[in-house]
Amino acid sequence: MSVLIVGSTALDSIKTPKAENPRLLGGSASHAAVAASFFSPVKLVGVVGNDFPKPYIQLYKRRKIDLEGLQILPGKTFHWSGEYEINMNNRRTLLTELGVFETFTPTLPNSHQSAPFVLLANIAPSLQSHVLSQMQRPRFVVADTMDLWLNIALPDLLRLIKRLDCFVLNDSEAHQLTQTDNVFAALKQIHKLGPKYVIIKKGSHGSILSGPRGFFICPAYPLHNVVDPTGAGDSFVGAMIGCLAVAKGSVEDNIRRAMVYGAVVASFCCEGFGLQRTARLTRGQIEKRAKELQKLTRF
Ligand code: AMP
Repeated sequence: MSVLIVGSTALDSIKTPKAENPRLLGGSASHAAVAASFFSPVKLVGVVGNDFPKPYIQLYKRRKIDLEGLQILPGKTFHWSGEYEINMNNRRTLLTELGVFETFTPTLPNSHQSAPFVLLANIAPSLQSHVLSQMQRPRFVVADTMDLWLNIALPDLLRLIKRLDCFVLNDSEAHQLTQTDNVFAALKQIHKLGPKYVIIKKGSHGSILSGPRGFFICPAYPLHNVVDPTGAGDSFVGAMIGCLAVAKGSVEDNIRRAMVYGAVVASFCCEGFGLQRTARLTRGQIEKRAKELQKLTRF
């Protein structure tokens, strides 16, 4: 079963204490789509300008990502630039140039409207809702967000959250949304906004799921050297939904294992700039780390 992924398709200029890399392939949808492609067929919905480098299109194609829903418009591709502090947990946005994103209205090709699994990766919640409205009875809808939308588009975001099966956000966003520091209290409050499943990501400390069968604490894979964490959250949720789309049985039966695969692909993402490491990944490498995580958490 295929996964439809909408979100940002970007050029990212990233600065860490050790290195600087301009105009890498980035964006929430790019990271999520590449991650999901290791598990299931993926349909990407987004927009790029005519400055978008051809090798980046080739990368999507190598991962067999369906690009019928990717618009290429005259103008500049969305450009985001961020800088990490020494500890790599804190990031500062240096620049956001919307380019063709400014006037983007995602219109889904007919072949995309029946995709059973939908990932509304980080973009404006009004656009996420617009895509969801074009879908015909999807089986499972997940959305991610960022602090910007909590600050400038909260009513839109709340309208979207009501329509989701699963809402994924990080711990600082959960705090901002619920005004509570306690992650379990925050999960409970977010359920009241609509979604059956809520996942709070805690960076290098893993993630926590709350669903009908209670909590699941998913570890992060222990990394000794983080090169660039940009897109780790998108990789996590992309791999998770890709895994769910091909799993036999219900979402409830598979979501915990899918989160572990999400954590594994996110760990690889952190080992290279942008998508450089993830793009070279093999299914064998993913399985090896998934087994290691299983061993690390069994008691
Ligand atoms: P993450 O590290 O998981 O928070 O995701 C980083 C990705 O988000 C980068 O590849 C950026 O291109 C993308 N991004 C940054 N700001 C925005 C924004 N305002 N809207 C959509 N995507 C964004």
